[in-house]
Amino acid sequence: MDLDVGDVEQAVFTGDLPRGARVDELVDMAHERYRDHDAGTVADYIPGLARADPRLFAVAVAEVEGGIHAAGDIEAQFTIQSIAKAFVYALVCEHLGHEVVLDRVGVNNTGMAFNSVMAIELNDGHPMNPMVNAGALATTAMTPGASAAEQWEFVRSGLSDFAGRNLRLDGEVYRSEMATNQRNLAIARLLQSYHRIIVDPMEVVDTYTRQCSLRVDARDLAVMGATLAGGGVNPMTGVRVVSAEVCRDTLAVLTSSGMYERSGEWLFEVGLPAKSGVAGGIVAIAPGKGAIGTFSPPLDSAGNSERGARATAFLSRTLGLNVFASAAHAGLAEGARS
Ligand code: GLN
Repeated sequence: MDLDVGDVEQAVFTGDLPRGARVDELVDMAHERYRDHDAGTVADYIPGLARADPRLFAVAVAEVEGGIHAAGDIEAQFTIQSIAKAFVYALVCEHLGHEVVLDRVGVNNTGMAFNSVMAIELNDGHPMNPMVNAGALATTAMTPGASAAEQWEFVRSGLSDFAGRNLRLDGEVYRSEMATNQRNLAIARLLQSYHRIIVDPMEVVDTYTRQCSLRVDARDLAVMGATLAGGGVNPMTGVRVVSAEVCRDTLAVLTSSGMYERSGEWLFEVGLPAKSGVAGGIVAIAPGKGAIGTFSPPLDSAGNSERGARATAFLSRTLGLNVFASAAHAGLAEGARS
């Protein structure tokens, strides 16, 4: 799609978050309000995830200026799962550039489950977007490195830069997923048959599964998201992880596809780019302001955390984060012109 905007100077306007004490108060309220919500089921298709305590619930907000607000089981660690897709995508875009990744992976919603094989078959062997497994496997295959070990180190250290601390592998979840992820292997082989993956599909699945098995907490998710919200600079460490353009592109893809086949409903109700993972994490990003990280294992049928989605929706409303919301200009308020 060539919209002929050309090389014009870009302006950014986003507004601010409410003051810190108010954010603290709202994060506490979000936790309090949904802690007893008991819908959803803990993912068990990866045996290592089935043991998670369904009562765990944490909510965190990170501001682009570095403020952190958190409530609940904030020490609880869990595997990042599909949320890694957003950050690996950003790292690969930074490395290869917008056009290459757009061509090889795509940015359109599949309208199907995250691990659909059908979406590839219906689209001429094209993975469609980086937030479903096919696109994430294609993206992972594009990470730089002369060996699978080097590619894994690129991913692990890059995601650690987003979090502002060294992230570690959960060996048990990794091994348990590797023993049961025939479906991801099938997707990788299918992409290989369409020449979308040109390296060893087994190695791609291994690196992909490792990235899904990195341990994080809700605060890490908020900081990782706030890095995307803050033009690519980590608010805790001050380190630039990716460019502002890469953040913008990544958030655009998250907006269309981050919540899988529920992305449209999510946008309608919450109005924020977001990404969920089957261990129960969600990160939602408010460009220029900050990000919300939540964790709670019980999921809805699309694989999105029940309590996390609710807490995020509540905070989007009360913190004024919905990117589509506007208010009439004060000078033009009702009746002003009559
Ligand atoms: N590792 C998981 C998988 O590939 C991630 C899925 C998810 O979080 N939606 O099946």
